[in-house]
Amino acid sequence: MYEPDRFRSPEYLAVLDDKAADAVFNIASDKLEIMRKSAEAGYPLEICGLLVGSLNDAGWVIHDIRPVANLNEERAADRFQLDPAGYQAIDRELRGTGVEIIGVYHSHPDCPAKPSPTDLESAWEGFAYPIISVCDGKAVDICCWSVNDSAAAFQNIEIKEIAS
Ligand SMILES: [Zn+2]
Repeated sequence: MYEPDRFRSPEYLAVLDDKAADAVFNIASDKLEIMRKSAEAGYPLEICGLLVGSLNDAGWVIHDIRPVANLNEERAADRFQLDPAGYQAIDRELRGTGVEIIGVYHSHPDCPAKPSPTDLESAWEGFAYPIISVCDGKAVDICCWSVNDSAAAFQNIEIKEIAS
């Protein structure tokens, strides 16, 4: 697996909380596979999308995976900017359905499944952030993250595969 030097820099290490979160990321295997395939199809560019589901004390329960365009064409290899129109359309569609947008996934082409300082800047509290590492076009790792109480760093969240 590739790990560019910057992932070992103090700036990048500061983004990671030593403590893992208590909450769990619950997702069916076929939906995990959709994220992996979508990340592979977009390689070598970064892809992104939304997670639809519900959030309770135990964690996130994912019902649906919704790809959204990455508007950052200039640096599409290492940055993503989720299309706000895509976000709004899905948010509107979900009103009254009992499920909502509860996270954002994105890929890291030829980089580890660890969040960057840029990821922290754009992270929202309460959202789950799975990152798919794609090396040479193959999804090799997926890790899920969420910002801690002070929103100063990402905590790792256990991914639990559930029946679909
Ligand atoms: Zn990232």
